[in-house]
Amino acid sequence: MNLDLRTMMVMIAVLSFLLSILLLVASLHARGIKGLRHWSMASLFISFGAGLAYPALTPQPGWNIVAGATFLAAGSALQFLGIQAFKNRPCRCHWLMLAVGLVIGVSTWFTLFEPNTQWRATANSLIFAVINFACARSLLIPLASYQRTAHWLTGASFAVLGLVYVARAVSIFFAPAADYGLFNPMPLNPLMFFAGSIIQLFLSFGFVLMVNYRMAAELENLAAIDALTGAWNRRSLDLECQRLLARSARRKEALAVLMLDVDYFKTINDAHGHQAGDQVLKQLIANAKSQIRGEDYLARYGGEEFCLILPCTNEKEAAHLAERLRQMQASRPTHWQGQTITSTISIGIAGSDSIGLNFSALLQAADAALYRAKQAGRNRVANFSDISLHELGE
Ligand code: GH3
Ligand code: MG
Ligand code: MG
Repeated sequence: MNLDLRTMMVMIAVLSFLLSILLLVASLHARGIKGLRHWSMASLFISFGAGLAYPALTPQPGWNIVAGATFLAAGSALQFLGIQAFKNRPCRCHWLMLAVGLVIGVSTWFTLFEPNTQWRATANSLIFAVINFACARSLLIPLASYQRTAHWLTGASFAVLGLVYVARAVSIFFAPAADYGLFNPMPLNPLMFFAGSIIQLFLSFGFVLMVNYRMAAELENLAAIDALTGAWNRRSLDLECQRLLARSARRKEALAVLMLDVDYFKTINDAHGHQAGDQVLKQLIANAKSQIRGEDYLARYGGEEFCLILPCTNEKEAAHLAERLRQMQASRPTHWQGQTITSTISIGIAGSDSIGLNFSALLQAADAALYRAKQAGRNRVANFSDISLHELGE
């Protein structure tokens, strides 16, 4: 293979320019997902950097090599900033500015004042390696599960690019004096630029894929969540309940189902307006979320009725939580546009310890218990096992 450094530089410049357009176009439909504009600008800077460094491939490099290195460093830094923006992380980027400043300083010093290609290429390569490793680290740790593949592709590409820079630094630093010049036939130099351009391609696809995965996940979330309360919706309850039941069966664990219903909700709507009613529902869900565990599943069953699935919980344990929720709702009025709205809830409970692991039977039993709680005067909790015993006695 006969790779020529000049061809590689032109290839990087043109490829990066095209990738920058691709990323810009992708950013137009990114629905508020940040990062793509940073990455588009980064590609543009890398394209400028490679373009400026091209005329520097003359025996007398000057300011253009400093400008080229500056653009390349700024491009690399922008890729890191894009990742932070994508992850909605605040950017504490003093070290990044220091890295770019160092590239400018090293390039200026070893090009204009003490011309030394070996030192310049070694130092700059190491700085670029650090920035790329930082990008890789930020993408791979911690890894968002639903975006794993895209993060892996991009993070691994950054890691490989970092390694390419380290290899470049080491090979140039230890090369015999006659071999390290940019023009000599040492194949490593153009080969590394070739690898760099391929990796830029991977990075850009990785960025687009990351945004794509994020958008898919957001849409999936939108389709699964009740817009008013933020609880899961009925559709996702129907999908999720089977998974939760199967897990409980596999682990031989108990599971409880609660049905919650706001008491006299129609009266609240009539007295205070529908928006106030909406506010009561929001507060109910906020209260409930503050009491349940991460593995518990709270869904809006319909209207002002909610279903709560508690894995690893028997009916008696569920009754404790239900009582806490009931008391919380009764003791915390909702404040809405100067009005104070007191509301209560009734809760019906069914546990797999008395019903078995069958979701529709559990739901039916919890509903029957809820009906009992309503009949008994509302603002109370009823267990299915209690009412069946009671009914047996009747
Ligand atoms: P009970 O104590 O027997 O449960 O009486 P209730 O008034 O709560 O029950 P009912 O089923 O008669 O009324 C439920 C009301 O909930 C009727 C409906 O207009 C209202 N509703 C359903 N969904 C929403 C909503 O999203 N927002 C508001 N504000 N009201 C809703
Ligand atoms: Mg009601
Ligand atoms: Mg109801």
